[in-house]
Amino acid sequence: MYIFSGNCLCGKVNYNCYAKPKAIFNCHCVDCRRATGSVFGTNLFVPEEEVKIYGKLSSYTHKSDSGSTMTKMFCSNCGSLMFGRNSAKKNILSIRAGTVIQLDLIKPEINVFMDSRVPSTSIDEKIKKAPRMPS
Ligand SMILES: [Zn+2]
Ligand SMILES: [Zn+2]
Repeated sequence: MYIFSGNCLCGKVNYNCYAKPKAIFNCHCVDCRRATGSVFGTNLFVPEEEVKIYGKLSSYTHKSDSGSTMTKMFCSNCGSLMFGRNSAKKNILSIRAGTVIQLDLIKPEINVFMDSRVPSTSIDEKIKKAPRMPS
């Protein structure tokens, strides 16, 4: 039985994840803003082999500031951004929190890239913060 599941806007791509997230980050970097079209992105990090994906994805690859190769995966039909891979984090898949059905599972533990956040964004002071990506 899966722990959580999700889908894109049109429903043609969906997934089941059989593990709990290893980490959940709110990311305020410029790349997440542009890719999501929102003021920050929330990512769940899970072991790649624990996720079963159904449907057709398209992808876009770019370099991050740190030089890693980043791959963004989105529904070929409706364009919803769903998953990401980072060449520096082998076998880890990031799942965009906006696609998750089980809302209570989305509990970010840190805000990263605080240095580039949109100033009006309200921040939960009870969780950790980092100016960039903590190593
Ligand atoms: Zn779709
Ligand atoms: Zn980011």
